[in-house]
Amino acid sequence: MTDEAVDRPGPTTVGIPSPQASSNAEPKRAPLPEGMSRNAWKREQKKQKWLEQKDARNKYKKEKKKQKKQLQNSKDEGSEKLEVGIVGLGSGELVKRRKNDMLQPAPITILIDCGFDDLMTEKESLSLSSQITRCYSENRRAVVPVNLRVSSFNGSLQERFDSALKQQYKYWKGILFSPIEYEVPESDEERSRIIYLSSDSDETLTELEDNKTYIVGGIVDKGRYKSLCLNKANSQKIKTAKLPISEFINISGRKVLTTNHVVEIMLKWIELRDWKSAFEIVIPPRKQEGFESARLKRKREGDVQTEDLENDGVDEQKDGETSMVAVDD
Ligand code: SAH
Repeated sequence: MTDEAVDRPGPTTVGIPSPQASSNAEPKRAPLPEGMSRNAWKREQKKQKWLEQKDARNKYKKEKKKQKKQLQNSKDEGSEKLEVGIVGLGSGELVKRRKNDMLQPAPITILIDCGFDDLMTEKESLSLSSQITRCYSENRRAVVPVNLRVSSFNGSLQERFDSALKQQYKYWKGILFSPIEYEVPESDEERSRIIYLSSDSDETLTELEDNKTYIVGGIVDKGRYKSLCLNKANSQKIKTAKLPISEFINISGRKVLTTNHVVEIMLKWIELRDWKSAFEIVIPPRKQEGFESARLKRKREGDVQTEDLENDGVDEQKDGETSMVAVDD
């Protein structure tokens, strides 16, 4: 700021206190000191005024500096609070942080068994690839993630991940893909730590336990292969269990869920320790009791073949996102 600017009234001096307002008023035609020209006298007056205002100017500058510092501090505190506050809330910032720093997973493994490649149509295999992608992203976003594994990752499933999905999975974190079948441990004790989930099991899960591996069938079969996974697990002497669906929500018909929904329900249970909430959050309300799909309505009204009747009450599976299994239209 120039001397002139300080001296001149107007916007540039707003906020600068004027200790001697009266001194701003130039004395009218005061007698000039002897031997001094009017211009020299004016210059002298200005200099005096500048000196008089020096303290006030310094005080103002100091105050401004203090305010700026306070503002900066409060900005820093604010951003710190924001970062702490957003943990677990799924905001953009959280995702950014997680990218570099995934949360510590629970000591629980979910393994998606993809050993059914040759039993699926091309469309079903494509649907499974979307479901696996969904499982991965839900686990990344989970408040408490798990160790995610994909076994028998080969055939047309892998082809799709390699081609259409441009090998992105190779950069995914917190998930392991293995081209071969999972290994069944020899010892009973170790085997007892593995549970194959199947809607056809007589056993019902009550909780998910630490240090256990839960296998979910990686298959979209629209109800064609009943008890497929149950039989596989039995032949491998692996325990089986179904989710406690009917204990907590009302769904009519066979309670076969898609692979991604089973994984999402488990993630929600681990977070909330509450099956009812986990089911209600993951299974869309329209899939729960009271919803009648257009197809079921047609069936009730006699427009659909009777071969579908055993699947009454379940809805068709859609690519990637959804949901209740397992009926072909
Ligand atoms: N016909 C297949 C159904 C595949 S559904 C079968 O034999 O299992 C995809 C997978 O989701 C299943 O293999 C099973 O692991 C899991 N799943 C679906 N519904 C389930 C339920 N109600 N309880 C436990 N697991 C379920």
